[in-house]
Amino acid sequence: QAKVAGKNCHRFYSRAMDQAVERRVRMEQDLRGAWERGELSLAYQPVYSLNDNQLRGAEALLRWQHPEHGAIAPSVFIDVAEQSGLIETIGPQVLRAACEDTMRWQQAHPKSNKLFVSVNVSPRQLRSGDLPRVVATTLKETGLEAERLHLELTETAVIGDEIHASGLLSRLRASGVKIWLDDFGTGFSGLSHLRRVPVDGVKIDRSFIADVLRDPDDLALTTAIIAMAHSLGITVVAEGVEKEGQFDILRERGCDLAQGYWLGYPMNAHEFAQLLA
Ligand code: C2E
Ligand code: MG
Ligand code: MG
Ligand code: MG
Repeated sequence: QAKVAGKNCHRFYSRAMDQAVERRVRMEQDLRGAWERGELSLAYQPVYSLNDNQLRGAEALLRWQHPEHGAIAPSVFIDVAEQSGLIETIGPQVLRAACEDTMRWQQAHPKSNKLFVSVNVSPRQLRSGDLPRVVATTLKETGLEAERLHLELTETAVIGDEIHASGLLSRLRASGVKIWLDDFGTGFSGLSHLRRVPVDGVKIDRSFIADVLRDPDDLALTTAIIAMAHSLGITVVAEGVEKEGQFDILRERGCDLAQGYWLGYPMNAHEFAQLLA
């Protein structure tokens, strides 16, 4: 009896696994060429400075409108793109589109602040070693000033291969591009990385910001991150600001920049241009 159940059980799990693998394979096939078919696009979320409430820049966030399944979350398809290597094609397309859109906003509104654009870079893109060349070519061809391009990397992209990563990041920074550490505070030794990896800014993960008004520990950590970053000359961005109270306390603690639903949802390039008008 047990043997039969075990066997069925095994069969059930392997079938469920097959289905998961199949879904991934299908998603990978669908993702191939999705940019060319116009299914992928960028949404831009505004980033504001806390001391004067000025719009400073935007984070480019990739969106996939699947022809049958509708919108698919980046947390799902970015992972597939990363695992399959498709990110090495899509990443440079994202980078180029973000630089082009930023130049277009500038041309349409020459008197507005020179905004930065922040582009997420996955671990695989960093590991490939091709990034400095791709970035240099894109900046040259779009005409965007290097200082206005920010690259967001997670701690996991840097962990394990700090020497290789810091070499690449130093080259990028030497060209003027800014490097931000994304989801800061969620990885392991966040603080010690800042000594070894050259960065211009850290983005405090939204899980800290979520409870900053209720949980004294989260407030203490956020305050400590801000103080420590500033003592190293690093800019601090808070992600996931959903309430006015969070905005106020972050400003009071000296945080430099913020983004979140309270300040603005991610929007398409056209809507973003209207923000500048
Ligand atoms: P991320 O880089 O940490 O981006 C911030 C995420 O938080 C975005 O989710 C954004 O829509 C969301 N968010 C912004 N404000 C708020 C808020 O006030 N409350 C809450 N709850 N969420 C907020 P999204 O767009 O779903 O992107 C998820 C992740 O996918 C990004 O996290 C990033 O890691 C990755 N991603 C997105 N676009 C790209 C891309 O072009 N390339 C790569 N490699 N990764 C990307
Ligand atoms: Mg990001
Ligand atoms: Mg983040
Ligand atoms: Mg995140």
